[in-house]
Amino acid sequence: MKLRDEIGNLAAAFGSMAADLKDNQDKLLSYGRGLESIVSERTAELAHEKAHLEISVAERTAELNAANDVLREQAAELAKRNQEVTLFCKMNDFLQTSTTEAEAYSIISDTVTKLFPDDSGAVFVLNASRDMLEAATVWGALAPGNVIFPPNECWAHRRGQGHLVTGHERRCAHVSTDGHMYLCLPLLAQGETLGVLHLLDGDAGQDAAAEARMTEKWQLAKILADNIGLGIANLKLRESMRNLSIRDPLTGLFNRRYMEEALAQELHRTTRNKAQLAVIMIDIDHFKQFNDNFGHDGGDAVLRELGGFFKQHVRGSDIACRYGGEEFMLILSPSTAEGARLRAERIRQDAGNLLVSHANRELGAITLSLGLAIFPDNSSDMAALMKAADVALYQAKRGGRNRVAEAFGTPAPAARQANAQITVQDQT
Ligand code: GH3
Ligand code: MG
Ligand code: MG
Repeated sequence: MKLRDEIGNLAAAFGSMAADLKDNQDKLLSYGRGLESIVSERTAELAHEKAHLEISVAERTAELNAANDVLREQAAELAKRNQEVTLFCKMNDFLQTSTTEAEAYSIISDTVTKLFPDDSGAVFVLNASRDMLEAATVWGALAPGNVIFPPNECWAHRRGQGHLVTGHERRCAHVSTDGHMYLCLPLLAQGETLGVLHLLDGDAGQDAAAEARMTEKWQLAKILADNIGLGIANLKLRESMRNLSIRDPLTGLFNRRYMEEALAQELHRTTRNKAQLAVIMIDIDHFKQFNDNFGHDGGDAVLRELGGFFKQHVRGSDIACRYGGEEFMLILSPSTAEGARLRAERIRQDAGNLLVSHANRELGAITLSLGLAIFPDNSSDMAALMKAADVALYQAKRGGRNRVAEAFGTPAPAARQANAQITVQDQT
């Protein structure tokens, strides 16, 4: 009985335990199901969020790429502007220090070809009589063939403002290339028109893109024209200041100070080249009579006329100067003794044919006395050379005026040696 009770108890306990276990298992199953549904909900949410994130990342990346492109474009634009500014500054610097017009125009064409490498063009400058525009420099494959024309053939010059041709605008008569877009800009300084900057598009196309490109060039060319105008005006100003300091205002010939500097240089060059140089000292005969008969202004008219006369009687490499009062000096470099002798004689004869009038009166014939000296034959240094020419001039006066006299002298040993070498060279 006892055993049966115990088995009964055990069975009851086992049954209750099994029921508990079943209960727990059910709870676990239900819990598991709950978890599964949470996990799948979360997974769906995460997938949704991931897809959303991917879209925003792609959008953001595209935005960044676009911003990057804009930045890159801006950086390229800045680099281009920077290069343009550098070129402008360089050009202005060089223009400030250039000493000749040829130098200045070569700097200008260098700069323009760097700024507009595919285009052609020219800088036209008004000539001295202001009735023609002349090409000071031309560049590019389509460089204008029309290098000199009257100012009214250019609309920019005529109207005093830039002229841009991208389509059917009126074309300037001086532009002979058809179909190409071009621009002309007046070169101005202190309100005065000095010339024109002309730029011809390298392409013959006239579509919207070409027009936009040309409009961009127009902006840059306007700044360029301003700079070139100022540069040329500056150069002209410096040139006239220099002229004032080296030229005699009455005759337009070089003054004595300049002549002495130039002669020193020419003597070095002559020695280096083992060549010869001639100095002709000239004095007007009885010049005082012109002053006495026609007044000081009459005398001045004679001096002015002789200034132009001497300029015509020397070559580009020679130097004609007013030495003082009514005395002149010509440096013929290089020149042989024979060449100088012929030239002096020719000057003497031609001066006799000069007709000078002042206040409607003929001033009468001019005669000259000329003294000739040769370097290194007659002297070995500048002072001795000028002295030799002066002594020869004195001989011409003493001999009766209206004549050429030659210096005679013995050169120093060094000069004799140089001279001997010339003779040897001449014989070969
Ligand atoms: P000679 O044949 O001996 O050279 O006689 P000359 O009369 O030419 O020489 P002289 O030296 O007696 O006179 C030169 C004159 O030139 C004296 C001076 O008043 C004059 N003179 C110098 N400079 C100028 C100038 O710029 N203008 C004018 N009108 N006369 C000048
Ligand atoms: Mg004199
Ligand atoms: Mg005299």
